[in-house]
Amino acid sequence: MSDLLITDIRARAVNVPLTYPVRTAVAVVDTSPLVLFDLETNQGFTGRSYVFTYTPLGLKPVRELLENLAVVLRGQEVAPYELERMLQRRFRLLGNTGIVKIACAAIDMAAWDALAQSQRLPLVKLLGGTPKPIPAYDSHSMDGPRIGPMRAERAVKEGLRAIKIKIGYPTLQEDVASVALIRKVIGDDIELMVDMNQGQPLPEALRRGRALEEFRLSWLEEPVLQENYVGFAQVRQALTTPIQLGENWFSVDEMHKAIVAGAADLVMPDAMKIGGVSGWLRASALAETYQIPMSAHIFEEFSAHLMAVTPTAHWLEKMGLADAILNEPLQYVDGAARIPDRPGVGMTWNEKAVETYLV
Ligand SMILES: [Mg+2]
Repeated sequence: MSDLLITDIRARAVNVPLTYPVRTAVAVVDTSPLVLFDLETNQGFTGRSYVFTYTPLGLKPVRELLENLAVVLRGQEVAPYELERMLQRRFRLLGNTGIVKIACAAIDMAAWDALAQSQRLPLVKLLGGTPKPIPAYDSHSMDGPRIGPMRAERAVKEGLRAIKIKIGYPTLQEDVASVALIRKVIGDDIELMVDMNQGQPLPEALRRGRALEEFRLSWLEEPVLQENYVGFAQVRQALTTPIQLGENWFSVDEMHKAIVAGAADLVMPDAMKIGGVSGWLRASALAETYQIPMSAHIFEEFSAHLMAVTPTAHWLEKMGLADAILNEPLQYVDGAARIPDRPGVGMTWNEKAVETYLV
């Protein structure tokens, strides 16, 4: 069979509305700024991925970096490992992190999508797995005492078995009250996680973490600055609540350093920041080595396939950041994501919506 070659690429920036703004302790994300990436091939398959830039300020630089890479991508074989090596070499001196890493992840993910399509297989099968249901938690925000309970109740009604909320209100009392309220609404059988989004100084994170122990949380996420592994280890030693970390790791090397520092009971890499499908596979091997439960941070369409081949798979995050521009958003049944039975990842753009939200 002839090689699958890249013939062209396309990068488009969209700013997609969200039903609920993502309110965190450190910033509010009102819209979902995404760069949509298409990788065209000589066999007619189009690999697709999107990356999330957190702020609309990141849209233009990421889109332009991807467009600039067209000259080095055209004519290359759709071989994710080779593409990754080539891009790593090219950016070694600039630094394989931040926006550079995000652009490279878009390429990696789209390449895997195209490759799976060319084999007429869902990505999970190309990776040697099977499309089993992936347990998911509904990911909420600092929604306050009115919207918070309403969202929680609805999620449970829809069959979700776990809910995460964000905290980091001005006072400890408000944090405790918001967790108590959600625990009361969902009862003891639904798992509850909380995310502090790096918002607290260490002493305050410890104080709040202790006050929350009574609520039987499944995890406490990013209590302090994510790179403060010593602080994480201290929080971890002080609490019985499992400590979750990982959405900001830009490499498996960072993940390894955090694990060796004893910073986390649980890990949750982000499919984009960790380096796409290729990066994820290495991260999952590391989590397996240390026998650490591994959850997925957003990117649910790709992450569902990846979690199915992750030996220590824990929870998928259901957040729907791209739902508005997808023809067929990921489906959830009985609290678990259903991996679509379509070649590749199974994502196509809703072009009408893309046009509406194009930046
Ligand atoms: Mg988080």
